[in-house]
Amino acid sequence: DGALLAVSHLNAGYVTPQGARVRAVRDVSLRVAPGEFVGLAGESGCGKSTLAFAATRLLAPPGEVFSGQSRLNGQDLLALSDAELRRVRWRDYSVVFQASMNVLNPVLRVREQIFDAMQAHGVTDPATLEARARELFDLVGLRADYLSAYPHQLSGGMKQRVVIAIALALEPKLVVMDEPTTALDVVVQRQILQEIDAARRRLGIAVVFITHDLSLLVEMSDRIAIMYAGEIVEEAPAADLYARPLHPYTERLMHAFPPLDGPRERRSGIPGRPPPLSADLTGCPFHDRCPSRMPGTCDVQAPASVTVRPGHRVACFLHAPDARPAPQETADAA
Ligand code: SF4
Ligand code: MG
Repeated sequence: DGALLAVSHLNAGYVTPQGARVRAVRDVSLRVAPGEFVGLAGESGCGKSTLAFAATRLLAPPGEVFSGQSRLNGQDLLALSDAELRRVRWRDYSVVFQASMNVLNPVLRVREQIFDAMQAHGVTDPATLEARARELFDLVGLRADYLSAYPHQLSGGMKQRVVIAIALALEPKLVVMDEPTTALDVVVQRQILQEIDAARRRLGIAVVFITHDLSLLVEMSDRIAIMYAGEIVEEAPAADLYARPLHPYTERLMHAFPPLDGPRERRSGIPGRPPPLSADLTGCPFHDRCPSRMPGTCDVQAPASVTVRPGHRVACFLHAPDARPAPQETADAA
């Protein structure tokens, strides 16, 4: 059906020492088309990293995928053997996360580390390796002389660019990036994001870019999904989401960060906290923070995700009035 990545009804989280399952990702479905740039945004703790790790088969114990599928080109990554997985990872998809720059080997020049990644997948000709490494550095905005550097000679932003170059080395069809620029200053973040975008257009790869900073995503993304308390509460084409956010949480998230081009004024966060993962949620997961909540409705039943415009879905009773439960009668009213 044309999807490169199709995550379906994914439930994931971790198992406590007592054996209880805590769900950080709740019935998430998400599709990514070939070459598409999909942004995923939400506050820290909303489950976006767990989703990234679960969908790419990187979740390690006590993390666990409880149910669901993650199909890349029709092949369920969650059902692959370890040997099959080793073949597809890096070649078909790669993953970059916030701490990735710390996985660079401090005693090897970055050239050797890029070569290693390519050699592990059968590229061995020295001239090809060197030419590819130079191309990759060019793609991520690094001068070729830095190929001879050791990681400690590079800034944080340069190291993260090296890691992104390694992730692109085998021209995978999909790169999943979980807050790859969050540790960097906002100007460098934006530059790197533009380089990632240019690389994806040139190589025709799809990108899933995960961040808590929605403002970073608006310009670059084709589509944006908003995650709250383990669920995708809204998903839409980026321009549509920006112009007409529907979920009260999306509206607040949109205003929690200054626009990239605007004045660097300080913005307030979103009052209140998300529910703890271990909570058994009743009603809309956002209801205790939502200024638009409808008592007797939002705290009673969870809103289903409904498509309100082409490509735009939202889980909120304000936009699915038919789905509202009948108002509960109180003893007084009776
Ligand atoms: Fe707010 Fe109710 Fe919509 Fe939830 S369903 S976001 S509580 S209005
Ligand atoms: Mg995270």
